[in-house]
Order: sequence, then structure tokens, then C-alpha cells
Amino acid sequence: MTAAGRFGTRWGGVVAGWVNFLLPPACAGCGGSAGEEVRAGEGPVCRNCRLRLPRVPLPVCTRCGAPLGTGMAPSCLECEDWPELLASAYAASLLESPARELVHALKYQGWRGAGGFMGTEMARRAGDQVLKAHCVVPVPTSRHNLRRRGYNQAEVIAAALAAELGKPLLDCLERLTQKGTQTALNPMQRRANVSGAFAVVEGFADRLAGRRLLLVDDVITTGATIVAAARALGSGSPQSVTAYAFSRTVPISLDST
Ligand SMILES: [Zn+2]
Ligand SMILES: [Zn+2]
Repeated sequence: MTAAGRFGTRWGGVVAGWVNFLLPPACAGCGGSAGEEVRAGEGPVCRNCRLRLPRVPLPVCTRCGAPLGTGMAPSCLECEDWPELLASAYAASLLESPARELVHALKYQGWRGAGGFMGTEMARRAGDQVLKAHCVVPVPTSRHNLRRRGYNQAEVIAAALAAELGKPLLDCLERLTQKGTQTALNPMQRRANVSGAFAVVEGFADRLAGRRLLLVDDVITTGATIVAAARALGSGSPQSVTAYAFSRTVPISLDST
């Protein structure tokens, strides 16, 4: 290295050190100092938040991953009308603190790096069905959200997950309609709102035939979005669709007890 290069590296390090001292990198989960992890470029999440990322409480439905609470129902009401193609759904965490804050940081605060952490954590918690998939398909967002946010949050997560698992990322779905946000709607309204909202992008259908697809989203709430996306993927005749989200909510029936 030249003397000038050594000088540049040394002063670059000093400046970075002062920036870290004056503006310590904050954790996307708790807002506290994220410490050395961020300085080493590992992601915007502190060690404490990494360790306390909540898992979905057992027992869960073996098909849709919904927590069943203490009363074991003979069949799960959440997934009884799911299409056969959608074989199963999983979530790496429960949508409680700090998972909730991470999702919020990625979706509403432009904190793209949170998505990298989420995808990596999903890879770490991946089960057999996830590992068996041939390729990773992100749930698309609307054009409006893409313009506003600058990225599709599900794609950021899916890209990190695909890279960790060594599987190809297939951005093959498009969102045709967006009739407003899903947030304020009840389960039946959510289904109506997203039904028919997705289609396979022209030219991709051939690459889906006979494949096991891993459909990735940030959060599963009622399952309406992944059901609609899986139905659209059906036009490409894949072998199966497995959905995998960073986080999921507790079904309303359990939440109110
Ligand atoms: Zn934290
Ligand atoms: Zn179920």
C-alpha cells in the first residue's frame, strides 16, 4: 500500500470512529445502541434483540403454522379453505417486540438493512419444507408502495434468505390491483381485497413448472395475501408452494382470550 493509501485508510477510520462516537448506530429493534454488530456491518440489530426475537408459541397447525392455543381443535379454521397447491406456511417469529419494530423499520422507516437481518434469521430458523424448495419468490408490493418506499420489503427479505440458502430468487409475480391497505380490514374483507391481485409476469411461467416454490412475505396475518399469491402461481403449474414469512400475528380468536 502507498503512503497516501495508508493515510486515507487511517483517517477514514478515525472519521468513522468519531461518527460512531457522536452518533452511535441505533438498533432497529429497540432503538438502543446497536454496538459493534453494526460497526462491523452485520446489521441494524443489537445482540439483545437478536436473542429475544420471539418464536411462534407451540402447538401450531402443521399446515398453516397458526398457533392453536391450549384448546386443540380437530381441524384448523385458518387454513381449511386454502388451495391444495399451498402446501404449508411457516413464520420465523411471532409479531411481537422486537419483531414488530423490525417490520415497522423496514416498511415505514426506510430501514432497508433490517430486511437483510430478517432474511438471515429466517434462514437460521428454516425447517425441512423451506430447505426443500427449489427457488424463492417474493410477494410483490403495489407500484404505489414501491415508488414511496423505493423497494419491495418482501423482496429485500427474500433476497437475503435466498442468498443464505443458496437458492435462486425468482421475482416472477406482479401486483395487478391495490384497493387500499389491508391493515384496517377484517379477515373476509382482506380476502376480497387481495383476491385476483397477483399474476405471473409474462415469460416466467415456464420456469415455474414442476418446481417447489418458496413464497416469501414479511408478515402473515390472515393468510389472505399468500393464498391469493399462491393461486396466481398456480398458472405456472408448480409442484407446490410453501409460504415463509419473517413474522406472523396470533389469530384474532386466540388474541382476544
Ligand atoms: Zn435492540
Ligand atoms: Zn391451519
